[in-house]
Amino acid sequence: MTDTHVVIVGAGLAGLGAAAACRDAGRRALVLEASGRVGGRAWTDYPAALGGVWFDMGAVWFHDAEHNPMVPIARAAGDTLLRSDEIRQERTFIGGRPATDAELNAYARAWPSYEAKAESILAAEGDVALAEVTRRLPDDPWAATIEAWEGPVICAVDADRFSARDWRRNALGGSNLVPDGGIGAFVQRRLTKGLDIRLNTKVTRVRWGGRNGQVTVETASGSITAEACIVTVSTGVLASGALAFEPALPAKVTDAVHALPMGLAMKVALRAIGTDRLDLPMHCSVDRILERQGEPLMPFQCWPFGRDYVQGWIGGSVAWDLARTGEAAAVDYALSYLRKAFGGRVDRLFAGGASLVTHWDADPLVRGAYCYAIPGSAMARDRLAEPVAGGHLMFAGEACHVGFAGTVAGAWISGQSAAGQALAAIAA
Ligand SMILES: Cc1cc2nc3c(=O)[nH]c(=O)nc-3n(C[C@H](O)[C@H](O)[C@H](O)COP(=O)(O)OP(=O)(O)OC[C@H]3O[C@@H](n4cnc5c(N)ncnc54)[C@H](O)[C@@H]3O)c2cc1C
Repeated sequence: MTDTHVVIVGAGLAGLGAAAACRDAGRRALVLEASGRVGGRAWTDYPAALGGVWFDMGAVWFHDAEHNPMVPIARAAGDTLLRSDEIRQERTFIGGRPATDAELNAYARAWPSYEAKAESILAAEGDVALAEVTRRLPDDPWAATIEAWEGPVICAVDADRFSARDWRRNALGGSNLVPDGGIGAFVQRRLTKGLDIRLNTKVTRVRWGGRNGQVTVETASGSITAEACIVTVSTGVLASGALAFEPALPAKVTDAVHALPMGLAMKVALRAIGTDRLDLPMHCSVDRILERQGEPLMPFQCWPFGRDYVQGWIGGSVAWDLARTGEAAAVDYALSYLRKAFGGRVDRLFAGGASLVTHWDADPLVRGAYCYAIPGSAMARDRLAEPVAGGHLMFAGEACHVGFAGTVAGAWISGQSAAGQALAAIAA
């Protein structure tokens, strides 16, 4: 006897995607979520520090909107999708001055050359660290900045620890859309219908490989036995050992988990106390050209949607260091970064104002922002997504997708795919 067909650990995008696929196939699925809300890293909050407006603590954009499965769901429901790319303006600084048009054109042309260089190295030599691509372009004045965007800023990891192949396999094109009201709110509103979700229910142990492939999960409020189990917690949680497996997981799974460590991205929002807007239009991105490889890049989105704050984004080892040092250090770091472009105006505008710093490092149910593959291990994502115990035990989540890795779309698709394989195992 089993309690449900499929038990799913975690109610983030992967868990919800898996549960929706079971529902659509007419199979019972029970989702167990340790926290008190659904969405996981898709979390819209309404921080008092920013005046109570909606603010996405984690995911913000539907990337590659033309291929993103969230977009048709939002459109069918009549939700407004904000065209963030179209309303955004950009200011790029070199030292303390704005870049000229000629410099911006050269910078834009450098991007495809950098990607082509990476592809040619990968084809000729196999996987390398992203930093190696930059090292092979010693005369390119833009390469260090491109590396900083593609490594720490977008993928939340320093380029010397990051597989260039993983980067290329998951580089996204297309446009970026923002669901009005926030992505976490969208997930709660649109992706939970008809699903059986039990909140505040932490799974402590997964006992797999039972008779006919049965899996029993243990929680503080009792055990649940199912014909299959889909585990969607982050690789950070899997690596921590906070979730026990009995028997121990096969080496191919544990090796894949260790090849996919968590990166960290930190958001620092500063609310203006005066009327100065730094001569920037609303929804303006501010970034800078770096002088040398490895120098940190902290891009800002200023006055998003006309709001009265700026939001900086820092990723990789600097983010981990700031997270260890504390919020005041993160705020100081953001202020000193802005001063490089705007001087003392920054202090008059933000000194004494409210601020917000995100802390995905400190959430024991996530333990970072999203994972990356270490050099030589890009295939770890594929291996983690492979069936265990003939499909009665599956892993899903942003770590398991190739193409949309590290995104809500990747997590959702991987959950749906894992559910398909689990249901096939049950039917076999
Ligand atoms: C700062 C930041 C910015 C981002 N920006 C974007 C973006 O703009 N666009 C985009 O597409 N993606 C973005 N992402 C990535 C995106 O949020 C994630 O890839 C995606 O939400 C991951 O979903 P998941 O289901 O794999 O994992 P999770 O969301 O982590 O879901 C796993 C769930 O498991 C639960 N859990 C953990 N342990 C247990 C346990 N023992 N028992 C039961 N439940 C447990 C957790 O509480 C969590 O709810 C961003 C992420 C961060 C952190």
